[in-house]
Amino acid sequence: MKKETTIVDQYLNGADALQNFTFEEVGDDHLFTGLETPMKADAFKLTDEEKKEKIASLFSEIMDTLGLDLTDDSLKGTPARVAKMYIEEIFSGLNPANKPKIALFDNKYQYNQMLVEKNITFYSNCEHHFVPIIGKAHVAYKSSGKVIGLSKLNRIVQYYAKRPQVQERLTNQIGADLQEILGTKDVAVIIDAKHLCVSSRGIKDDTSSTVTTFYGGAFDSDEKIKQLQSYIYNS
Ligand SMILES: [Zn+2]
Repeated sequence: MKKETTIVDQYLNGADALQNFTFEEVGDDHLFTGLETPMKADAFKLTDEEKKEKIASLFSEIMDTLGLDLTDDSLKGTPARVAKMYIEEIFSGLNPANKPKIALFDNKYQYNQMLVEKNITFYSNCEHHFVPIIGKAHVAYKSSGKVIGLSKLNRIVQYYAKRPQVQERLTNQIGADLQEILGTKDVAVIIDAKHLCVSSRGIKDDTSSTVTTFYGGAFDSDEKIKQLQSYIYNS
C-alpha cells in the first residue's frame, strides 16, 4: 500500500530562519522560507535570448568541470538544449509574461455545488535539488457567479509547476491565484506528488509520496473535506 506523508511544519518564516541549518539539511528536509517564489528585483533585466546564451555557457562549464568532452557530437548541443528547456519549458512559469490568460463566463446553469477537476498531471522541479517532482493536482471550487473553462484550471496548475518549487508553495500559489481569479475564497487544492530527490537519491525511498492541501472558504470544514476526498479518491 502506498505510504503518504503530509508535511506541515517545514515552512520556516523569514529568511533568517534557515541560518542554523546546513545546506544539506535545508535540501533533504525540504525546508523553505516563504510562500512567494524568491525572485530578485532585477529578475527580468535580461531578455529570454540573453538568458539562454548565459545559461548555455554556464552549463557547458558544469559539464566541462565534470570532465565531459564537449566536442563529442552527442554532448555538444546539450548546454544550448538545457538553456532552451529551462527558459521555454520547465522554468517558464517564473516569468509573469507566460501566465495563462483567463476568461471567466457567467454561470448560466446556476450550478452552485463544488466542481472538482481531478488528476491533473504535472511535472515540476524541486528548488533544492533541481530534479523532478511528478504528481497529480486536484482542484475544486464553488462558483461565486462566474465559471472558468476547465482547461484553464489545468493551465494554472502547469504555470506554477513550471518553476523551481517546494510542494507546499506550489499548492498555495495555485489556491491563492484561483481565489483571486474566481473572486471567491471557496477553492481547494490537493497535491499528491513524488519527489525524485527523495526516491532516486538521499534517503532513496521509492514508495512514499507527499500530500499537501489548501482548503479555502467553504472548503475549510470537515464535511466538505470529506465530500471532496470521496470525489477524488472513490469515484
Ligand atoms: Zn529536493
